[in-house]
Amino acid sequence: CFCKLKGSIDDCSCSVDTVDYFNNMKIYPRVQSLLVRDYFRFYKVNLKQECPFWTDDSKCAIRYCHVQPCQEEDIPDGLKGDMLRNIHFNESPVDKYKASMQYNDCLHSAKDHNRELGYLNTTISSENYKDFELWQQYDDAQDNFCVKESSPGEYVDLLLNPERYTGYKGPSAHRIWRSIYKENCFRPENSPHNFIQSSKINGMCLEKRVFYRVISGLHASINIHLCSKYLLSPKDNLEIVPGGRWGPNLQEFQIRFSPETTGGEGPNWLKNLYFTYLLELRALAKAAPYLEREEYYTGNKVQDKDTRLAINDILNIIKSFPDHFNESVMFTGGAEAQLLKEQFRQHFRNISRIMDCVGCDKCKLWGKLQTHGLGTALKILFSGKFDKWESTLHDFNRKKFFLERSEIVALINAFGRLSESIFELDKFRQMMR
Ligand code: FAD
Repeated sequence: CFCKLKGSIDDCSCSVDTVDYFNNMKIYPRVQSLLVRDYFRFYKVNLKQECPFWTDDSKCAIRYCHVQPCQEEDIPDGLKGDMLRNIHFNESPVDKYKASMQYNDCLHSAKDHNRELGYLNTTISSENYKDFELWQQYDDAQDNFCVKESSPGEYVDLLLNPERYTGYKGPSAHRIWRSIYKENCFRPENSPHNFIQSSKINGMCLEKRVFYRVISGLHASINIHLCSKYLLSPKDNLEIVPGGRWGPNLQEFQIRFSPETTGGEGPNWLKNLYFTYLLELRALAKAAPYLEREEYYTGNKVQDKDTRLAINDILNIIKSFPDHFNESVMFTGGAEAQLLKEQFRQHFRNISRIMDCVGCDKCKLWGKLQTHGLGTALKILFSGKFDKWESTLHDFNRKKFFLERSEIVALINAFGRLSESIFELDKFRQMMR
């Protein structure tokens, strides 16, 4: 069977079998039960942000593209209002004060901050928390792999809006993927195709291969989800199906991933899914000391305590994974490596902006969430803030650096999506048997 992948995952020393066992037996059930908790199910997102690249796309009119808004009374009290708590245990009162100040999304890229900071340079004082906040935003913007939204948007209940088949396809969907692969991925030399061929990837350096693989893995995951939660009846008239019936569509899966229908590429794309999974798994392991200290505050003491126990349980398992992705071999070697890292970051930031051009709200919601989660993973791996355990732990406690709630929610949900894809892939394998 083409989807029975063999051997090790490219650019990692880990095998597909190890990931299958570890994910399907240990991680998947735990992460799914975590994601139904209030802290993780409500995600704030702006789905109305204008597409910065083109304006001539029509909005998807298919009813399954619609995102059901959240009712005010459904949102947990602790997540409402401006004073969002994002607090670690054992903080000093001053740190608690700073942490409880609303950290406005840093709206602009690092460049946009420069003008303001030129002024601040002369006025900053350690007692002035407003200045402190602006400096913090500047620092964060340097580390971020995603462009922040211009307004925070609205809460969406992710459980009410599952990622599944929507019917979004054709020129609009292709334009998004094409612009990602053609204009915003590193490309092999002499590669005239819109989409990148796996055989050419090995000629590129590790960092560029990693970039392509994580995007291709994300793409594979999205397409596996739409195959495993396909609209089963009656699919010829999407408009009149009340509620719809959703389930796996083996034929759709085969068309999308078999070597015969994909010019031999399908199995490579599936392997890239494992690669993206391993990269996010490593980010979670690296950020574990930070995540273990998070309060997961929703205002419900009992639930919050359970959430902390559940996350610690998952993190312990993740830390015990035998063969983590090794990010320390990337971006080594002086100024050139730093330049490459900056290009890597800018390419990814652009991809996060392209998500505002997706013409189906449901796909946009999950596309934005998953790129946000992946961007957070890249920030954990490559910002350097999580590299030195001792000194950064100290910083974590003093709250000099933290992940926003939305980053944590996106990271765990994005990882949950990849984990489910690997689980669903196994179900397709069994169906093919
Ligand atoms: P596409 O998936 O559109 O792919 C275009 C081309 O990319 C292919 O022809 C191939 O050459 C190449 N390619 C395909 N897969 C890979 C890969 N893994 N790695 C590298 N190259 C690849 N549809 C839904 O039903 N539900 C959703 O939730 C949903 N979410 C989406 C989110 C985003 C951000 C986008 C851009 C699209 C989403 N879609 C969703 C649409 C879906 O991904 C497909 O675009 C659509 O089903 C059309 O599929 P296709 O077979 O024409 O190829």
